[in-house]
Amino acid sequence: MHTPKNTDNTGSLYIVATPIGNLTDISQRMQDVLATVDLIACEDTRHTGRLLAHLGIKADLTSCHKENEQQKTVYLLKKLSEGLDIALVSDAGTPGISDPGAVLVRGAREQGLSVIPVPGPSALATALSASGHQGAGFYFGGFPAAKTGERVKQLKALKGLNCPLIFYEAPHRVQATLQDCLEVFGDRQAQLFRELTKLHEEHLSGPLSILIEHTQGKVRGELVLIISGQPERKEEQPDNLDELILWYRDTEKTSLKDAARIIAKDLDLPRSQVYGHALSIWKN
Ligand code: SAM
Repeated sequence: MHTPKNTDNTGSLYIVATPIGNLTDISQRMQDVLATVDLIACEDTRHTGRLLAHLGIKADLTSCHKENEQQKTVYLLKKLSEGLDIALVSDAGTPGISDPGAVLVRGAREQGLSVIPVPGPSALATALSASGHQGAGFYFGGFPAAKTGERVKQLKALKGLNCPLIFYEAPHRVQATLQDCLEVFGDRQAQLFRELTKLHEEHLSGPLSILIEHTQGKVRGELVLIISGQPERKEEQPDNLDELILWYRDTEKTSLKDAARIIAKDLDLPRSQVYGHALSIWKN
C-alpha cells in the first residue's frame, strides 16, 4: 500500500502526473499509486486505459473531464469521504495545469480531505528547464485566447513584464499567435518547443519574425512557446519623448526610422505619430 489509511477512515486524493510523450518518464511512485488506489479518475478512460495496459495495471476508471468536472467532483468527494483512495490523472502531464483537476482538489481541501501530489512531467517545466532563461520568475498563460482581438488584449497586458512568458499553443493557431506577439512585443527573442520527449522533438530559437518564417505551412504536434520578457530599460534612457528621440539619435546612433519604430513599440504610440515628431526635432 502506498500510504497508511487516514485516521478518520477517509481516503486520499492522489494527483498523479503522467508522461507527456516518452513512456520511460513513468516513475516508480506513479506506478505504485495507480496500481493500489481504489479508483482512477481520468480525462479519457480509453487514453488512460492504454497507459495502464502498458504498465500491466488493472484498475477501475471513471471519467473526469472539462465538461463533467463539476458533477463528477460531488461523486468523487463522496467516495473519498467513504474511504476510497482515488488517483486523478489527465491525458498527459500534470493535472490542474491547463487540464482539469482544480475543482476536485479545491473540493477535497474544503472538506479537509487528504490531497497528495505525485509529481512528474509537465510540458511547462520541461520547456522552461531547457530554455536557458535565468532568474526566478516566469509568467505562464496556459493557452492564449483563440480569437485574435482577445489574444492581442491579453498580450498587451503582459508587455511590461521582464520575465519569460510561457504559453501552450495548438499547431493550427501558432502562426496567428506568433504574428500577434510580433505586433505587440516587437521582434523579441522567442523559443518554440515541439513534441517534447517524443521522436520528432524540435527546439526553435530566434526573433519572433524568424519563428514565423520557420512555422510557415503545416505545423504538427504539441507546442510550448516561450517569449523573452521586456528588456530592462537602460537607466540613462530618458522618459520624455523629445529627449528619448534625441537619446536614440546621439547615444545609440540609431536611424530616425528605427528610433521611431522602437519608441512607438515601447511607448505603445502610433509609429507615424512618433516618426512625424522625430522628424521635426531630428535635425535641430
Ligand atoms: N497538463 C499538461 C502539462 O502538465 O503539461 C498540459 C495539458 S494541455 C491540455 C496540452 C498542451 O500542453 C499541448 O497543447 C501543448 O501545448 C503542451 N504539451 C503537452 N505535451 C507536450 C509535448 N510533449 N511537447 C510540447 N508541448 C506539449
